[in-house]
Amino acid sequence: MSRKIEIKRIKPKDRIISSLDGKVLYIDIGAVVADESVVSVGGVSEYLSPEAVKEYIYRGVESRKIFDKSPESIIHEIRRLFERIPRRRVASGFFRTGGRYAIPGTAFKGAVRSRVEYKFIPKSCGEGVYKSPSCYSVFGNVRTKSKRHMKFYRVDESIKRYPCRYDNKQFRSVCLVCDLFGAPKLASRVLFSDLIMSHGKVERLDVGRFIKDVEVALPKSEFKGSIVGYNMSMEDAGILFLGLEAYTNRRILLGRYKYRTLETPIQYRGKRFRFGIVEIKINKIVYGGRERGVNKFIEEARKEIIKYVDEGFLDIDIGVVS
Ligand SMILES: [Zn+2]
Repeated sequence: MSRKIEIKRIKPKDRIISSLDGKVLYIDIGAVVADESVVSVGGVSEYLSPEAVKEYIYRGVESRKIFDKSPESIIHEIRRLFERIPRRRVASGFFRTGGRYAIPGTAFKGAVRSRVEYKFIPKSCGEGVYKSPSCYSVFGNVRTKSKRHMKFYRVDESIKRYPCRYDNKQFRSVCLVCDLFGAPKLASRVLFSDLIMSHGKVERLDVGRFIKDVEVALPKSEFKGSIVGYNMSMEDAGILFLGLEAYTNRRILLGRYKYRTLETPIQYRGKRFRFGIVEIKINKIVYGGRERGVNKFIEEARKEIIKYVDEGFLDIDIGVVS
């Protein structure tokens, strides 16, 4: 049975940066792979190279033995081959940018955003009606709807939190999470840089059936990057910090195999490892053109979002990695 949910939607803030000292928030970020964890972010799917496409067509043509057929059926067969080209494949190498190992900004942002969305819990408002200040931007996305994922974030799948739309005259309002992180046809107000490896090691790992021949960043590997937000209120900062686990123990989950190995750690070289546990460090905060004390600023931002906890819309502890 699916139940109704009402998502509070607002007119999004301006996407234009009107001044650089006004409401711009800069956060200097460090990320450290946990002692008992490795990280794989090579699992992004990539488009096939022209060489790979050529290889696929050559092999298809050879195996089909089509050259004694009529020109029409040759064209037909080649057409079919082209239509069936696998468009993407999953790469197993660790992500690199400019020749350096890195956690892609997109993966970092995705991990932070989904954390925020899951911490905003649907609140029961009587007789099968629920309310929430946040949608699930990933709702309906098959890739992210794994059972392990849903269990980890305590998601009730019968409550359908459809993503916000901003694509025509009828839909000009979005939830507060989409206002911050963006929605289709609405730019994000927070930009996540790639997190570049500053210290550490990448190694090839092969541990059997599911995890085969993948490059991973080893425990204690360190990464550096930044987040820049604009037209940021203190409430916006408060929401962003939720996803960085700034109010808890600052460990987030990133990359491949994270839920699988959370349940069943892998054995490698006589040790137990999980995947994707990363500690986020906030090294420096600049807001409104002035450097702020990190802890004090985080505490101030927390005060702006605590109302959602009091009202039963937010559970800060959801998704905390024990
Ligand atoms: Zn939304």
